Amino acid sequence: NVTGSKKFARLIKEGNYDEALSIARQQVESGAQVIDVNVDEGMLDSEKVMKEFLNLIASEPEISRVPVMIDSSKWSVIESGLQCVQGKSIVNSISLKEGAELFKERARKVLQYGAATVVMAFDEQGQADNYQRRIEICKRAYDILVHEVGFPPEDIIFDPNVLTVATGIEEHNNYAIDFIESARWIKQNLPYAKVSGGISNVSFSFRGNEPVREAMHAAFLYHAIRAGLDMGIVNAGQLAIYEDIEPELLVRVEDVLLNRHTDATERLVSFAETIATGGEKIEAKAAEWRSAPVEERLRHALIKGIVEFIDEDTEEARQLFPSPLQVIEGPLMDGMNAIGDLFAVGKMFLPQVVKSARVMKRSVACLLPYIAAEKAKNKDTRSAAKVLLATVKGDVHDIGKNIVAVVLACNNYDVVDIGVMMPCEKILEAIEREKADLLGLSGLITPSLDEMVHVASEMERLGIKIPLLIGGATTSRMHTAVKIAPVYSGAVVQVLDASRSVPVVNSLLNPALSQNYIAALKKEQAGLRESHSSNNASKKYLSLADARKNRASLQPTVYKPLKPGITLLENVTVGELRSYIDWTPFFMAWELHGRYPQILDDAKYGTEAKKLLDDAKKLLDRIEKEQLLGLKGVAGIFPANSKGDDIEIYTDESRTAVLITLHTLRQQQEKGAGEPHLALADFIASVESGAHDYIGGFAVTAGLGIEKVLKEFSNEHDDYHRIMTQALADRLAEAFAEMLHERVRRELWGYEPIEKHHKKCACHPEVSAGKALDIADLIAEKYQGIRPAAGYPACPDHTEKAELFALLNAETNTGITLTESFAMNPAASVSGLYFAHPQAKYFMLGKIGKDQVEDYAARKGKNVTETEKWLAPVLNYGQE
Ligand code: SAH
Repeated sequence: NVTGSKKFARLIKEGNYDEALSIARQQVESGAQVIDVNVDEGMLDSEKVMKEFLNLIASEPEISRVPVMIDSSKWSVIESGLQCVQGKSIVNSISLKEGAELFKERARKVLQYGAATVVMAFDEQGQADNYQRRIEICKRAYDILVHEVGFPPEDIIFDPNVLTVATGIEEHNNYAIDFIESARWIKQNLPYAKVSGGISNVSFSFRGNEPVREAMHAAFLYHAIRAGLDMGIVNAGQLAIYEDIEPELLVRVEDVLLNRHTDATERLVSFAETIATGGEKIEAKAAEWRSAPVEERLRHALIKGIVEFIDEDTEEARQLFPSPLQVIEGPLMDGMNAIGDLFAVGKMFLPQVVKSARVMKRSVACLLPYIAAEKAKNKDTRSAAKVLLATVKGDVHDIGKNIVAVVLACNNYDVVDIGVMMPCEKILEAIEREKADLLGLSGLITPSLDEMVHVASEMERLGIKIPLLIGGATTSRMHTAVKIAPVYSGAVVQVLDASRSVPVVNSLLNPALSQNYIAALKKEQAGLRESHSSNNASKKYLSLADARKNRASLQPTVYKPLKPGITLLENVTVGELRSYIDWTPFFMAWELHGRYPQILDDAKYGTEAKKLLDDAKKLLDRIEKEQLLGLKGVAGIFPANSKGDDIEIYTDESRTAVLITLHTLRQQQEKGAGEPHLALADFIASVESGAHDYIGGFAVTAGLGIEKVLKEFSNEHDDYHRIMTQALADRLAEAFAEMLHERVRRELWGYEPIEKHHKKCACHPEVSAGKALDIADLIAEKYQGIRPAAGYPACPDHTEKAELFALLNAETNTGITLTESFAMNPAASVSGLYFAHPQAKYFMLGKIGKDQVEDYAARKGKNVTETEKWLAPVLNYGQE
């Protein structure tokens, strides 16, 4: 909003849309669920700016995943916004201010554009500022919209005017309550309508005192939401948590908001002046908890994830309670339930939950010997629902699954994790043996999708009925609905985030909920299947022959490698990789969504993100010092030419004998005029060109010996550090790939001009730091050349890793092995090809036709059916 944010206003005026967009992106990253855009400013051509800005938003996937609220007091600006926004938007706003006729006319327009709308509580007499006027106007507007215009009531969002309290004017004292009560009335009396408000208005009289304003917003939201407020316009990055408001401040703030005392305003004002000294109080409180009764200490330790005193506190509780089991069922479960609740409503984040689980496990471990002794005396038969987890055959990725295991265990499920690379028979046996109530299958690479279908169909054959959870990065709701659900009559649910697993498992296993939940699920999946088939039918494809005619014919650009052949990397250290780490995916693994380094200052995630990074760096220090993770890599550059869609790699410069042939796939989906149908082979000069081109390949790992470290943490009941180790090993493998790619560009292949070298590079100190690439540039791939990886969009066929590994003798040279699904083991490994051509770029293959599959199978010397299995995710036709 150009009026609300000076920075945004300046950027828009300067036409610096890039940065203006980044403000929108920050809002979405901080958790905004709708993005309100307002460019009303005297000096701006608001209609034009609105159009331009919305068009830019549309091409930013991270922003456009949330709906847009087109905000203007000028109808013409709103209409120009409506004309270019994609999907369903929200108009902000229309009202009865200029009479019912204009109101109806605009509502009809909004309806015609398929948008929802905010309706302000205004009428011909002006703004509603008390309860009675608010509800009268909203009722009148509702009736006109619903009964005269035919506007869907669920698309009406009332804004009953958040007005400023604590102004010193007595009539304003009830403003907050009136808003809250109006929200309650609207929700009770105007079916389906929603309520919104511009929250920061309420605290306007405390401009400049952010802690007080944030506390007021949090408390106001807390009460308004309970009364029915559905949404609010806020700075998403600046929201305090109600529970975190300092108790004294909270009382004073609520006195004002709820108009509890006549002198509430003065009391808040005088308290507000002291607010700066709050820091010391909080520290004193931190030590205080040690003197609380033991139940409270246990609860505190759990919620804060403090393991330090857990052994002694557990022992104290054990002696106090009649039985050790009661310690678990009493204070420990209370604490865990509180955590579950805080997590469910977004007041705690994943790393905190995992840390809490560690405290829980440590405590339980202290009690177990006593419980066992007691059990021997009297048999305990009660048990929680049992969840079985496994990573499917051929796959080794399990960070996500480990997190799910911890989160479910925290919610009182009995979790049995049978590990990675689990063949179907073993999974079926375990269901039987463990009497599992639910099975969770995990897998990262695309061949695992097929394996999941196989497990589901085997469960069906054996008459197993338990619900099936599907998780992993390449799984999707669509694949689950189209490929897995049809072969299994039990419930099948895809769960992408660990945080979602709890409500889903609850709904599946709770007899009171499951029937409705499963019915809704099946309906949704039927809908997805339908849209899938109509979607597929609408896409157009070229024949392979035509796609080939439209290949990218690039000017051959050959760089002779300085060091051709194979180079081994055996002495790389964690220390030299640290500056190459891309931390953003690390936070993603912990479900803290946002970009590094901005996430460290994020209002919602910042505190936790900082702690997490701190812990990560400490562990990284230890990994470095004690050399806990083995690093090994290999790179090679070889003479090569493309031949059709294949790339022939020669034994030597004479280019007479072929050492290995790589097979690439070509895009077939119809494209715009002038756009080529790409295959990776296009980036290598063809045999016919006569140019002597080269290709490179690499494989690196940072996971050698990781099992030992993981085992150590498991033995200490420390899931937090176990998962952290896995996440760091992944980061190191990626950093290794980044570092190696740079060395290849600069030393081994040597095509990169020196001024593009890494800032930290010591080889050419004369290069000014200003020009050099830093890690952010490397992550943004601002260099020449690409390193596509098998299984990724340009080359989705994992089986090509076999050729790459043969070429590099990678198993021997690095210790990485390939599973039967061509996953790399250890999981913390990266491999790919190097292309140096200045126009080489990543692209997405998209779906391909049967003609190409047959051609590709013949080129690889495989049969079509098997090839179809590996290419299943990219086929544009259904298989048998
Ligand atoms: N900085 C990231 C790097 C990994 S993701 C991290 O630390 O996790 C980027 C890598 O994915 C690329 O280097 C490339 O190997 C692969 N990749 C991305 N897009 C691709 C595509 N379209 N086709 C093939 N490989 C791709």
